[in-house]
Amino acid sequence: MKIAGFVKTTLLDYPGHLACTIFVQGCNMRCPFCQNGSLVLPEYFEPLMDTEEILGHIRKRSSVLEGVCITGGEPTIMPGLKAFIRDIKDMDLLVKLDSNGTNPDTVRELIEEKLIDFVAMDVKSSPADYALVSGVPGIDIEKIKRSVDLIRSSGIDYEFRTTLVKGLHSKESVRETAKWLKDAKAYFLQSYREEDGVIEKLKGEELKLESFTKEELNELLSIVREYVPVAELRGVD
Ligand code: SF4
Repeated sequence: MKIAGFVKTTLLDYPGHLACTIFVQGCNMRCPFCQNGSLVLPEYFEPLMDTEEILGHIRKRSSVLEGVCITGGEPTIMPGLKAFIRDIKDMDLLVKLDSNGTNPDTVRELIEEKLIDFVAMDVKSSPADYALVSGVPGIDIEKIKRSVDLIRSSGIDYEFRTTLVKGLHSKESVRETAKWLKDAKAYFLQSYREEDGVIEKLKGEELKLESFTKEELNELLSIVREYVPVAELRGVD
């Protein structure tokens, strides 16, 4: 496991549970709006943390913690992910996986082997716009679709989420995404925020991305709710 960040306690990352969060280093996407650029672009990588030390810390606090969130970066490209999760499950803790859905076989194995209890998948945009929004020109959209299908039918807790960015998303692409996710059990729309770690900024590219206004986000939410009635905005003040 390549771990570059560790939050010892959070009430925000695992819905309804006191958890800690692990940030893995490395990702196979290049979403221009990504706020964790230092976990994605190798030229910004920071020294790795000691996996055993982190496991030791979790073990010590396992009577207080309820769960562990594994995020990134992209956890499913990590060698040693399964062994790491097994160590956590041996401590009787819940595991939440955040994934971009590029490795459906890994997600399926983790579900089948009861190694994860919750999966949160970023659905970047409609299938037609996936390459643009993920920053991966040759993205294998069939793999992403397989991940969506298997997560929906897995029986474990899940959520889908989309970060909306003016310059990358449109009413049409939002509508197509919502049609794809029709009747999902949980779907959150998040708003892009310009921060220092944003990939587009780190790459020194001319900034073309902007946040939608609250009014625009509410309009997009009402489009989404035609297909996914439980959809909500998240983190929008
Ligand atoms: S937002 Fe995109 S680039 Fe950033 S970690 Fe997630 S999938 Fe990777």
